[in-house]
Amino acid sequence: MTVLEELDGWQRELRAQFPIIADRPELAYLDSAATSQKPQAVLDAVQRYLTTTNANAGRGTYTWANATTALVERTRTRVARFLGDPAPQQRSGVHFVSGATEGLRAVARDWLPRHLRDGDEIIAPFADHQANALPWLESQQLLAERGVRVTVRELPYDPASHDYDHTALARLVTERTAFVAATHVHHVYGGDMNVHRIRAAVGPAVPICLDAAQSVGHLPVDVGTLDVDFVVFSGHKAMALPGTGAVWARNLRGPEFRPGGWSGTPNTSGIASLEAALDWLDTAGPDRIQRWIVALAARLTDGLRASPAYEVLGCQLSLAADSAVQHREGIVTFRHRRIGSNDLGFVLSSHGLMVRADEHCQGRAGETESSVRVSLHVYNTPEEIDRLLAVLAAL
Ligand code: PMP
Repeated sequence: MTVLEELDGWQRELRAQFPIIADRPELAYLDSAATSQKPQAVLDAVQRYLTTTNANAGRGTYTWANATTALVERTRTRVARFLGDPAPQQRSGVHFVSGATEGLRAVARDWLPRHLRDGDEIIAPFADHQANALPWLESQQLLAERGVRVTVRELPYDPASHDYDHTALARLVTERTAFVAATHVHHVYGGDMNVHRIRAAVGPAVPICLDAAQSVGHLPVDVGTLDVDFVVFSGHKAMALPGTGAVWARNLRGPEFRPGGWSGTPNTSGIASLEAALDWLDTAGPDRIQRWIVALAARLTDGLRASPAYEVLGCQLSLAADSAVQHREGIVTFRHRRIGSNDLGFVLSSHGLMVRADEHCQGRAGETESSVRVSLHVYNTPEEIDRLLAVLAAL
């Protein structure tokens, strides 16, 4: 029995819980790396919050304000537990942000300058999303203005394996290496980066910040086994409302993460949605979600590779039993050898197929320009993949 057959009944039940999907079966949403759709339970939680206890947090003496404060604190613990933190809030902390961009910038702006000394070196992934490249350069500049010189080196990327080049990384590390930024799942190539090998290459003392925007909600992310110091993710890519996200900080290597100073009113309805989204994802099971979307991605990759007109970028992923390749997640980026990606996106859209075309916010654009990205989540189906392949095959 294939994974898609085994999980078919489970997936149908989950898919039916997304009104925007269930109400429009003629459409296929294939852009979940940009943002996810929301299940009814999340919509209900927001409605419930706004119609029962909506107030500001941390300020009140009355029940609604206290209920909102409790919601915010409870969701902090919920985020930590969801990420497998065995002892939430002993030392670790969770800070709410509007998405991964703001989260990474908060680490770069509010924590990194307190941690770095003149002459230190940091390593950052310039082939990844620009949200995980630019903040570290901004931090370097900010420090330079104060006379603190920091060297930023590129986290080496191996285009053959589409993982980081751990041998080259180990060679880059010196006694002045004070911080490494890395990505968990690449937002264009779909590679699931081997975080254990990053830790092994940089040694036990260097803080690692993991951009988990494309992994949280798509696969199990467990800080009990991943020895990283920050996990940053977008709640809105993990079934919660737009404008949600979080930074989890272990607070063991370097100073405590205390971001933002006076941050004002939190996004309380967003936080209510995040709590419900994490409950929903835990019930659905991140391991099964991962198996489902990887199987869909493999179906798509195999279909594209059957046609000489298409070139799949990034690591290959195959359903074939003899395939050694398995570390790609549910993101498939490809190109037609003659038709430009905007035209392709337009044709697909006219068939109700919603994909990302053209530019992918990479720190260094390069080879993925003019490509189409299909990114999957648990509501997508094999029928949608087959519809997409049929339209592509007819071009
Ligand atoms: N990092 C990665 C890997 C991403 O894919 C994205 C969003 N595409 C971001 C960061 C930025 O996330 P947000 O838009 O939620 O700030």
